Amino acid sequence: MPIQPSKQQNDASLPLLSLIIPCYNEELVILETIRKIKAFCTECVDLETELIFVDDGSEDNTLAQLRAAAIKDRKIKVISFTRNFGHQVAVTAGIDAAKGDAVVLIDADLQDPPDVIHQMIEKWKAGYDVVYGTRSRRSGESAFKRYSAQVFYRLLNKLSDVPIPLDTGDFRLMTRPVVESLKAMPERDRFVRGMVSWVGFKQIAVPYNRAKRFAGESKYPLRKMLRFATDGILSFSTKPLQISIGLGMLAACIALGGIIYAIGMRLFTDTWVEGWTALMIAILFLGGVQLICVGILGEYIGRIYNEVKQRPLYIVKEYLGFSNEEPVNSH
Ligand code: UDP
Ligand code: MG
Repeated sequence: MPIQPSKQQNDASLPLLSLIIPCYNEELVILETIRKIKAFCTECVDLETELIFVDDGSEDNTLAQLRAAAIKDRKIKVISFTRNFGHQVAVTAGIDAAKGDAVVLIDADLQDPPDVIHQMIEKWKAGYDVVYGTRSRRSGESAFKRYSAQVFYRLLNKLSDVPIPLDTGDFRLMTRPVVESLKAMPERDRFVRGMVSWVGFKQIAVPYNRAKRFAGESKYPLRKMLRFATDGILSFSTKPLQISIGLGMLAACIALGGIIYAIGMRLFTDTWVEGWTALMIAILFLGGVQLICVGILGEYIGRIYNEVKQRPLYIVKEYLGFSNEEPVNSH
C-alpha cells in the first residue's frame, strides 16, 4: 500500500520521513554519521527526508560541524540546546520539531545501522504505526553493559504496568498519529520507549545487530545509566510502592513476634535483661526497611515536585535550517 503524504505537506507530493539524531560530544563520529545518513536518504527514492540533529549542549566541535553541514544541505536542520539536557529530552525536542509523516529516532554513533530503516519503512507501508528495532546481538559493548541492560529490560518489563518490549532502545519509526500522541504527553521524566509502548497503536519489532560505536565513548556513564533505569521504572510502575508496603508489613509481623516474645520473657522468666542482640537486630532491621521505604516515597515525591514546577523541558539556543516559522516547544 503506498503511503499517502499528510495534508501538512502540500508542497511536496511524496511522504516526508524525519530522522531525529540526538548528539552529545560526538565530534569524532558526526561527519561519518551525516555521510551515512545522507547516503541512506538518497536510497529512499519514494520519500522526502529531513534530518533533525539535536545538539544536546556538546562541549566539543559537534555543533560547529553540524552548522557547517546545515549550511551546505537544506535537508539538514539543527536544534541546539543551551546546555546538556539529556538524551531523552533531546529526542523529545526532535519530535516536537519534526514535520514528517513518519519519524525515525536514531543514535548519532552509528550503533543503529541506517540500513535497518528500510525494513522499518516496509513495515510502515504494511500499515504498522510503530516499528521498533530489537537488538538481537550487541557487539563491541562491555560485558557489564550487556548484562546490566539485559537485567534492566527484564526488570522493567516485570514491574511496568504496560508491556515494554525487551532489548529495545529508542531506534524506531513512528507515524504521525503516534508522534502527536507523544507530543500531547506533558510529563517531565521522559522515558520515550516506555511512552511509545503506552500510547498503543499497531506495533512491530524488527530485529537487528547493534554494531559497536563508530568512534568515541559511550555518553552513558554508570551514573546516567542508573538515573535512566530509575526513571524508566518509576515513570512506568507504582509497584515499588506496593513492594515497600509488603516489606513494611513483613517487618511489622516480625516485629510483632519480637514484641510478644519480649513481653513473654519479661513476665514469665528471669532472664529478661539479656536479649540485647535481638534488640539491636530488630532496631537495625526496622530502621533499614523504613529508610528504604521512605527513600522510595521520596523518589516519587521528587517526581511530583518536578511535574508541578511546570518548567519547560528544554531551552533552545538556536534553530538552524528550519524554514519560515520556528518549531514550537510543546513541553
Ligand atoms: N546523547 C545525548 N545526550 C546525552 C547522552 C547521550 O544526546 O546526555 C546521545 C548520544 O550522542 C548518542 C545517543 O544519545 O547519539 C546514545 O548515547 P550513547 O551512544 O552514548 O549511549 P549508549 O549507546 O552507550 O547506550
Ligand atoms: Mg551508543
